[in-house]
Amino acid sequence: MAILLDNVTKTYTEGDDAAVNQVSLTVAEGTIATLLGPSGCGKTTTLRLIAGFERPEAGRIAIGGRTVVDAGTWVPPEKRGIGMVFQDYALFPHLNVERNTAFGLKGRDVKEKVRATLNMVGLGSYLHAMPNQLSGGQQQRVALARALARDPVVILLDEPFSNLDTDLRSQMRQEVVEILRQAKATAIFVTHDQKEALAISDTIVVMKDGTIQQKGSPREIYQFPETAFVASFVGQSNLLRGTMGDNSLVNTQLGPVPCHHTHGAAPGESVTLSIRPDRFEMDPAGTLHGRVLSQVYTGEAIDAVVAMQRDNMAFEIIVHIHPEEQIRVGDMARFKVLPHFVAVIRDHH
Ligand code: ATP
Repeated sequence: MAILLDNVTKTYTEGDDAAVNQVSLTVAEGTIATLLGPSGCGKTTTLRLIAGFERPEAGRIAIGGRTVVDAGTWVPPEKRGIGMVFQDYALFPHLNVERNTAFGLKGRDVKEKVRATLNMVGLGSYLHAMPNQLSGGQQQRVALARALARDPVVILLDEPFSNLDTDLRSQMRQEVVEILRQAKATAIFVTHDQKEALAISDTIVVMKDGTIQQKGSPREIYQFPETAFVASFVGQSNLLRGTMGDNSLVNTQLGPVPCHHTHGAAPGESVTLSIRPDRFEMDPAGTLHGRVLSQVYTGEAIDAVVAMQRDNMAFEIIVHIHPEEQIRVGDMARFKVLPHFVAVIRDHH
């Protein structure tokens, strides 16, 4: 395991809630993990604990199989085998690309190593350029090369794309991920952007209030959220109360809904169901009907809110309708629920 956190807790101010509360996680060698969550959930603190910029009051952290902090151990940041890439790149303005990348490196083969790494990030012909002559994306690649040239056990990246505009941002993140994969690097990203996390990660760790809500692959997190928070934070979701029936059917306001993933709920148990907006399909023979309250055309779909009626009960559902459908506010429409990726979630946080 490249990284292991075992029950790590960090409180900044005595009497306050812990910024990171009994967090345990592992990151396998050569994989990309993302800490995802809203502002203040503890993701940056988790990264800083791994880097050694903060000290936990409890728990253990190991990097590359070596304990770097526990009750009786403290390895300082520069001896942990980590590479850092920050949001603002943190390049030295008075050093050219080659010297920025080589900064602090020792040994006979530094020059070759630095040049090979700069080639890998596509900056082989910018060795003598100064940081202020580079675009934001190029500066970010220098920062990445500087981290990679040290052959770190793990690269830690704190919101590395947030200074880039939208187009460059998605291009850069694909480039950075390709470089990391090519280098077989282990990396941990911090982001509050769920789309980014889904796009780049092998494993997503969703955090809230200093604790881990769920760990899993992007598919697991999106398709089978375990908590109401994860269902709503990663994509949109309709959360419906219901009772577990037989054969993985859940009885809800919408009637019996076939559920793909029951998370171990037993028949008779009351549960919450997460149904993604794209699980509703317009169908003239559908058993659900309702009036369209609002609709927004996004190109990929029509995002609509529909007031559903059933057994004299009315409730609102968010649906994604195929963009070729002609639909107006006020229209009545019929829907059916597609069975896959409807998930039972465990709690009501
Ligand atoms: P953001 O996306 O806004 O950076 P985050 O998820 O990275 O948020 P952290 O920066 O880890 O969250 O902060 C977690 C909690 O710890 C917050 O309540 C924050 O106010 C608090 N905190 C962070 N750094 C310090 C500090 N140096 N001193 C005191 N409290 C801090």
